[in-house]
Amino acid sequence: MMIISFLNQKGGVGKTTLSVNVAARLAAQGQKVLLVDADKQGSASTWASLREETPFQVVSMARDNLAKDVLKLAADYEATVIDGPPHAEGIARACIIASDFVALPIEPSGLSTWASDLTVRQVGEAQAFKESIKCGFVVSRKIGNTVIGREIRSMASEAGIPLLNAEIEQRVAYAESLTMGKTIFEWSPTGAAAKEITTLTDEIIQHVQ
Ligand code: ADP
Ligand code: MG
Repeated sequence: MMIISFLNQKGGVGKTTLSVNVAARLAAQGQKVLLVDADKQGSASTWASLREETPFQVVSMARDNLAKDVLKLAADYEATVIDGPPHAEGIARACIIASDFVALPIEPSGLSTWASDLTVRQVGEAQAFKESIKCGFVVSRKIGNTVIGREIRSMASEAGIPLLNAEIEQRVAYAESLTMGKTIFEWSPTGAAAKEITTLTDEIIQHVQ
């Protein structure tokens, strides 16, 4: 049993995109996967509603006390992915507490503030009493040749959170596939985006083990 959450108090950084596609990748590996939609706006649930079937189970659960119930549900799955809410409060804290790995998508352009964001602090607070929670920043929506420079690496280390090697670029395929109720693997199985998701999923699994 492994619980991975995608969290960042900012909206639009790619939490839902990455949650859906990492869940799809884990399912494609033959794992029994649960996706918990912890966002009241329900983007992941909307994505699921566009389909007749989903390659993983999707449940909607957006409340402050979800940790216990997520852990209970997750016991029946090999992997659980939590798509977090677009703000940092009780629900986000509950997602962190339930997690083995917290992935924090960050847009390279927003580098001025993310290291001090509340979500980062919440992860630190949760780790203070559940030491086993691992975490990592994931560069998301990277534009073309943006160099992930020394500043970003040093900000990550200041925040005490590793920066994963896997990077997710800004690609139309991510937006189109999600809008059409597809996974990136269904949309473009051999495309660059599918490769990025595979690399990201592998790296997260390595961190959890
Ligand atoms: P969040 O869940 O953090 O609010 P979403 O995953 O819903 O973010 O992404 C917000 C918007 O940006 C969506 O329209 C989505 O399709 C688009 N988007 C997210 N990640 C990418 C990406 N890597 N490339 C292109 N568009 C993206
Ligand atoms: Mg979302």
